[in-house]
Amino acid sequence: MYKQTILCCALVGAHLLGTIRLEKAMAAESAGEWQTRAEATNYRRTSRYDEDIAYARRLAAASPLVQLQLLGKSPEGRAIPVLVVSKDKAFTPEAAQATGKAIVLVNAAIHPGEIPGKDAGLAFVRDLVITGKHATLLDGAILIFIPVFGVDGHERFGPYTRINQNGPEESGWRTTAQNLNLNRDFLKADTPEMRVWLDVFGRYLPDLIVDTHDTDGADYQYNLTYGLENGASLDPALVAWQKAAFEGEIFPAVAARGHVVSPYIILRDSKDISKGISQDPSEPRFSTGYGALQNRPTLLVETHMLKDYKSRVTATYDLLVEIFAYLNRHPGKLRTLVARVDEQTIARGRRYDPNYRYPLTFKLTERSRPFQFQGFESTLELSAISGSTWVRYDPTKPKTFTIPLFDEAAVEKAVAPPLAYAVPVSLTEVIDRIKAHGLRYRTLDAALTLAVETYEFSSPAWESAPFEGRIRLKDFKATPIQRQITYPAGSLVVPLDQRAANVAIHLLEPEGPDSLLQWGFLDAIFEQKEYAEDYVMEKMAREMLARDPKLKAEFERKVSQEPAFAASPEARLEFFYRRTPYWDDRYNIYPIGRVSALENLPR
Ligand SMILES: [Zn+2]
Repeated sequence: MYKQTILCCALVGAHLLGTIRLEKAMAAESAGEWQTRAEATNYRRTSRYDEDIAYARRLAAASPLVQLQLLGKSPEGRAIPVLVVSKDKAFTPEAAQATGKAIVLVNAAIHPGEIPGKDAGLAFVRDLVITGKHATLLDGAILIFIPVFGVDGHERFGPYTRINQNGPEESGWRTTAQNLNLNRDFLKADTPEMRVWLDVFGRYLPDLIVDTHDTDGADYQYNLTYGLENGASLDPALVAWQKAAFEGEIFPAVAARGHVVSPYIILRDSKDISKGISQDPSEPRFSTGYGALQNRPTLLVETHMLKDYKSRVTATYDLLVEIFAYLNRHPGKLRTLVARVDEQTIARGRRYDPNYRYPLTFKLTERSRPFQFQGFESTLELSAISGSTWVRYDPTKPKTFTIPLFDEAAVEKAVAPPLAYAVPVSLTEVIDRIKAHGLRYRTLDAALTLAVETYEFSSPAWESAPFEGRIRLKDFKATPIQRQITYPAGSLVVPLDQRAANVAIHLLEPEGPDSLLQWGFLDAIFEQKEYAEDYVMEKMAREMLARDPKLKAEFERKVSQEPAFAASPEARLEFFYRRTPYWDDRYNIYPIGRVSALENLPR
C-alpha cells in the first residue's frame, strides 16, 4: 500500500499545494493503516502471533530496508520471526558486519505475558522505515528485532496469564509449550526457541543485546527499570561503556521524555523497603549473564506492570529511540570496544597461566551505597488471611526514601582456564550444546590419549524437585586429578583461544553455576554399574590383607578411628574393592579433560 502511495505523490508533484494536501491526507491514512493493534485500541489490546507475522510481512514488503526471516520451529510448530532492519540492506551477517555499524539485537516476549517490547519494537521498526519519523537512526546502526521469541507461550493467550498486570486485556503465558522458561535457558539451550536465538546471535554477532520484560515485585513510581551487569562476568571496559552510555546519556534522555527510570528493584526484604535493594550478578542462564560471557553489553528492560500499558510501551519505545540515537552520536565506538574485548579473550586463551583465576560464581558483599528510591508510602498491616503481615502501598502518596543499594560482587569460586577441553564423542548432549553455542572445536579423526587434568567427584547430592525440567546437582566435592584419558575418534577438542571461550568455560567447568554437569547432563557418571559380590570380595580381601601389611595397618586404623566406616559392612568391603584392578576407573570421574600443556594439545 505504501509503495503505491509514494508513486501517487510523485505523479502529482507538479501541483505543489495539491501535493502537500494530498501528502498530509496520505500520511494520516498511512499512520492509521500502519497502527499496531496496541495503538489502534488505545493500548487496551496486543496482537496475536498471526497478526504479528502479517505485520512483519507487510513491513518487509513495503520497505526495502527490512528483511523478515522466519526461523526454526517451536514445539507447537511455529516459526520465530526475526526482522533485520538496515539502511544498507545489509541483511546477511557478512553484509551487516561489513557496514561497520553497530548491530543491536532486541528481543521481545521472552516471557510472552510481558509484551510491551513487542508493541514498542514493531512501532519502532515502522517509524524507522515506513513513516520516516526516525529514519536517520538507521544511519549508524542495524536493528535485529525478534518481536515474539516465546511463540507458543504467546499463543497461550488470555485475560488470566498475569495476575494484577495493568493491561493489555489479554496476553500470553510466561513459559514455552514445554513449560520451560526461556530466560533460564541461555546456557543449557534445551528449547528449540533458544536454538534460534543462539543461531541468530552466533551469525550476526550483535554488539548490544536488549531483552524486554515487565516486572512486579513491589509498587513504586518508576515505569521503567533496567538491569545491567555491574562487573562480575562482564569485561570492565564494557561495564564502563554501559555506565557512560546508559547512565550517562540514554536514561537521562528517556527520563526527559517523561519516564521515571531506575535500576531494577529487587527488595532485600519484601516487607521492609528500608533494608534496601540488591543488584545481583546474573548467572549465564539469564540474558544478561549470557551476554556478559559473549563480551556483549546486555540491557534488561523491566517496565513496571502496575503502570498502564501505554506507559510501558512508550517507555520501551522511547528507550529504543534513545539507544539508537546514542549509537548514532558515537559511531564505531561500541563496535571497536567489543572487538577489542573479543581479541583480549582470544589472547588470554593462547597461554596457560596457573595463577590466573577466571571467576565462576559471585556473591554480593555487605557493602552498600545510598540510593534515592522513588516509592510510595506504605503501611504494614496484620492479615487474618495469611496470618502474617502484608504491605499496603498508597500510590496516591509518592515518597522518596534513602535506602541502601547492594551491588558490589565478590568472587566466590574461580578456576584457571586450561588451553583446551577434550570432550569424549560419547557425550552427545554435551557436544550438541558446544555446537549450539557456535564454539570452535576440532574433531579427532583418530583415537588420542591425552594427559589431562580432570576431577574426581565425591558426595554428590541432587535437588529433590525439578527445575526447568531437570533435577539439578545441588552439591558435590570436586578434587582435581591428573589422568591419561583416551579420547576416541569423533571426540572434540575445544580450544580457549576463541572469542566465546567464556561460554566454553561455563559449560564445562563443573563449578560453573550453569555447568552442564550441574544441569544433570552427566548424571550417569555418578552411577556404579559393576559390583563385587560379598562372598567374592571377602575372599579377595583376606588375600590382600595377608599379602600387604601396610594395607592391613591402614584398614585397621580406619576401623578403629572412623565409626561410620566401622559400622558399614559395604564400606569395609568397598575399601578392598577400590584397591583391586576391577574397580571402575571411570566411576565419579569427570570425562571432560582439561589440557593445560601446549605440548599435549593435539594439532
Ligand atoms: Zn520477564
